[in-house]
Amino acid sequence: MEILFPTKCLSCDAVISSDANFCKNCWPKLQFIKSPHCKICSHPFEINFQEQENYICANCLKKPPFFDKTIAIYRYNPTIGKAIGRFKYGDQTFLAKKFAKILLLKAHDEIANCDIICAVALHRSKLRKRKFNQALLLAKNLQSKKLIFDLLIRTKNQKSQVKLTQKQRLKNIKKAFLLNPKYQNLIKNKHIILVDDVITTSSTANSCAKELKKYGAKKITILTIAKTIF
Ligand SMILES: [Zn+2]
Ligand SMILES: [Zn+2]
Repeated sequence: MEILFPTKCLSCDAVISSDANFCKNCWPKLQFIKSPHCKICSHPFEINFQEQENYICANCLKKPPFFDKTIAIYRYNPTIGKAIGRFKYGDQTFLAKKFAKILLLKAHDEIANCDIICAVALHRSKLRKRKFNQALLLAKNLQSKKLIFDLLIRTKNQKSQVKLTQKQRLKNIKKAFLLNPKYQNLIKNKHIILVDDVITTSSTANSCAKELKKYGAKKITILTIAKTIF
């Protein structure tokens, strides 16, 4: 199997040993998000606090998001960006299993203790173009028994977020997500994990979390491969 289907580096395609995810060139370029970090958005702190668990960053203090916790593995950079790009646009659905494995290692307890797993929804037209929702594919590979694949509905086909300023992003994302009416009585007091491949400004995650909290969700945890640190 190894000869026919050699394991390749998630970022650069170099052949690697079957138990690895990245090659020895890419591995040192990955930046893990380590403690201490904000307990809500996981923004890392420069100073090493003695008590590492309960700090909240200035942004979250000033304007608390609707989600309660963020688990992000990597700080977004070109190396992990390339890997996620291959997963996102390359039809390489098997990469979802690899990334899910990485997420499972880090968020094992959170996944075991949550009630529902869902993913940031894609609009139909985007889904047609890309053929699959990468966030949903990740979520499916975490704990399929807890997955509700259609918990959130995307109402607007937004412009791509990439070229927008933070203010434009916020406007763009408002009311873009609605709770699927058939689950209105199901999410009260539930701990929900919301999966996305990348968190940039958190505005998408926050918009989803707001909608879920509106119907009584108790706790929202954002689970993501990489987060952009500004
Ligand atoms: Zn590599
Ligand atoms: Zn924060």
